[in-house]
Amino acid sequence: MNVYDSHRVAVILENLGFEQAVAPKYADLIIFNTCHIREKATEKLFSDLGRIAEVKQERADEGKDTIIGVMGCVVQAEDEQIAKRAPFVDFAFGPLAYYRLPEILEKAARRKGETVIDTEFLAESKFDFLPQNKSEGACSYLAIQEGCNNFCTYCVVPYTRGIETSRPVRDVLDEAKKLVDEGTLEINLLGQNVNSYHGEDEQGKERNLAYLLRKLNKIDGLKRIRYTTSYPADVDDDLIACHKEIKKLMPYLHLPIQSGSDKILKAMNRRHNVAQYLDVIDKLKEANPIIGFSSDFIVGFPGEDDKDFAATMDVVDKVKFIQAFSFKYSKRPGTPAAVMDNQVEEKVKKERLEILQNKLFDYQLKFNQSSVGKTMDVLFENKGRHAGQLTGRTPYMQNLYADANKDLLNKICRVKVKEATMNSLSGKIVEE
Ligand code: SAH
Ligand code: SF4
Repeated sequence: MNVYDSHRVAVILENLGFEQAVAPKYADLIIFNTCHIREKATEKLFSDLGRIAEVKQERADEGKDTIIGVMGCVVQAEDEQIAKRAPFVDFAFGPLAYYRLPEILEKAARRKGETVIDTEFLAESKFDFLPQNKSEGACSYLAIQEGCNNFCTYCVVPYTRGIETSRPVRDVLDEAKKLVDEGTLEINLLGQNVNSYHGEDEQGKERNLAYLLRKLNKIDGLKRIRYTTSYPADVDDDLIACHKEIKKLMPYLHLPIQSGSDKILKAMNRRHNVAQYLDVIDKLKEANPIIGFSSDFIVGFPGEDDKDFAATMDVVDKVKFIQAFSFKYSKRPGTPAAVMDNQVEEKVKKERLEILQNKLFDYQLKFNQSSVGKTMDVLFENKGRHAGQLTGRTPYMQNLYADANKDLLNKICRVKVKEATMNSLSGKIVEE
């Protein structure tokens, strides 16, 4: 979502006449987009700001002004700390306010001392005021839903991105068509809980994600559809049916479980237990037998004991995730879990994360190895590290390298997979 937001901000800036600088020292304006999900992400902002303050000083010595801004969820949660700890920041705005950037920039140019801050949650939707999105290549993100009403006890999202809102069907389809007209082949629909989508159609009727997927399926020229991130309790039968019906829907789904222990899921205030999660997985596999899953895990949530952790390891053995993201529980200010009195020791969290990751990496490697010898469709998105090489994604989001002419960039080719590591595949193009 932050990549998408940054791109939309770049489009606003282009419309204002800005061009991309090749390095910070050539930039008149620098904006940091920030994540507040874990403490580490927040601390990174302050260390990056420290470095950029030096650049600002060096440029000032050469007589050049530099305007510095911060956007995103850290601003929403810690606007005053930013102004206090980094007073050289000219302006800061939350993730829902960025359509007001032209105004904010004007105020920042006139500022006398105080950092210009905009963290208001207004009733209006930023999407109604943003300039039209632009395609950047063959793969585009498209935000359809934002915010969250689930209030998992560890999570800041409902406080930083606000309550759940969905964009109207027409807006989403118009944006998708424009992206495809400009060369997009793959659209990844985004939302904090993308499958809770309930946007209105032109008659004012609420429509679900399945409805939207079927409409997108009809766009000529669009070859691949993905959606991320889904909340397990909101995967309904209609959505499951799409995985059978819609060939453009890639056979890969990110479906975070967080923990394999019902006790912990309850303490996390998740609206699903392990059995319900596994049931959804089974139904999706029935709809599309070649589907693969990825997930998010949190280890060391308050109260997690050895038995709970063992249950998480069991779930991994059951589902055999083909990719995963795993984190140590991080205390977030203002969330209920931060003040629970049964916090897990840092040392235990570290040990558990390592054990879990070893298992997850093992399954990921095995899955990649099972791809060797197969022929897959690969959408080439970037130049590779070596000359004459391109990199792209398989339907399962695996990163694949192949020797290829650069004319094949932003195209889908048939590729025979030759080698696999945990993080990537390499292959040979068999059909352009
Ligand atoms: N809406 C999605 C997840 C969005 S946040 C869902 O509910 O599945 C992305 C991931 O960050 C979460 O899935 C979770 O694994 C992780 N996360 C969120 N808060 C965290 C915290 N306080 N400590 C550690 N990981 C956290
Ligand atoms: Fe955070 Fe996801 Fe839970 Fe919402 S559902 S509170 S975004 S972890």
